[in-house]
Amino acid sequence: AKATIGQTTAYYEARMDEQVRQRRALTKDLWTAIAQDQFRLHYQVQKAVATGEVTGYEALLRWQSPERGNVPPADFIPLAESCGAILPLGDWVLRAACREAAGWPSACKIAVNLSPLQLSQPDFVARLAAILTETGLSPQRLELEITESTIIADRERALATLRDIKALGVTVAIDDFGTGYSSLETLRSFPFDKIKLDRSFMTEVETSPQAKAIVRAILALGRSLDVPVLAEGVETADQLDLLAREGCDEAQGYLLGRPQPVGAIAGLKRMVAPA
Ligand code: C2E
Ligand code: CA
Ligand code: CA
Ligand code: CA
Repeated sequence: AKATIGQTTAYYEARMDEQVRQRRALTKDLWTAIAQDQFRLHYQVQKAVATGEVTGYEALLRWQSPERGNVPPADFIPLAESCGAILPLGDWVLRAACREAAGWPSACKIAVNLSPLQLSQPDFVARLAAILTETGLSPQRLELEITESTIIADRERALATLRDIKALGVTVAIDDFGTGYSSLETLRSFPFDKIKLDRSFMTEVETSPQAKAIVRAILALGRSLDVPVLAEGVETADQLDLLAREGCDEAQGYLLGRPQPVGAIAGLKRMVAPA
């Protein structure tokens, strides 16, 4: 038995070493990718449920690595967070998205995801203001999406930063709503401009009476707080019909449009060339 335990331990140690090695390699590639400009943004449409009108686009980061191919955000964003690469990367995303949207023919919103580390930089609001000035995007057109975890870490400071962001005229959405430990507490502590209902509710809304009841309750909550609710991950016409019946404000998902490079999106032809 002793030999077996020894072998098992050795096996796990080898696997740990392998994981550490892979993480190191990915981290190294990530910094190279930043230096070599291997990132692009895709845009996914957001629409008003009642009218079908385009309300905005969410910018989603894409890494096209010459060695690794397309690396999904879920595989590199957490790593970028832990090694600090999310700071230059997040800066790049903000600047690129604002510059892009400033040239669009419509004054729709551009939604950008913000990581907790970005928000915790003492000079974040100053950087944001500089990017808005530099790109000429009207602050009212920018929406920052943050998850609950962003304000859990250093609550008071995070809330103060969010207030400063709103003071610029930029709006703030709570992302993945309904999946955290204390969504209601989060909602109570800050006047968000939009609630983004997590995609997991859409996958269950037609089959689970519980999920449907929670969706209804969140929509009612949004109405009474006067905060619009956007449903994420809408994939079927039935889901969209249900949302319309329940009075959901906005929707986003493959049914309405996949994330795409801007050139593939009709209606976003540039009026002016990017700087
Ligand atoms: P998220 O902010 O919740 O973004 C929505 C994700 O759902 C995107 O995945 C999008 O492609 C996907 N999605 C949209 N509609 C549907 C649908 O109908 N069905 C399904 N199954 N999926 C749908 P993506 O692009 O892989 O991004 C994953 C996550 O990575 C994002 O989740 C966000 O947390 C993070 N992320 C992406 N870009 C950025 C960024 O620029 N900065 C930061 N900090 N995080 C980012
Ligand atoms: Ca998001
Ligand atoms: Ca989300
Ligand atoms: Ca998410």
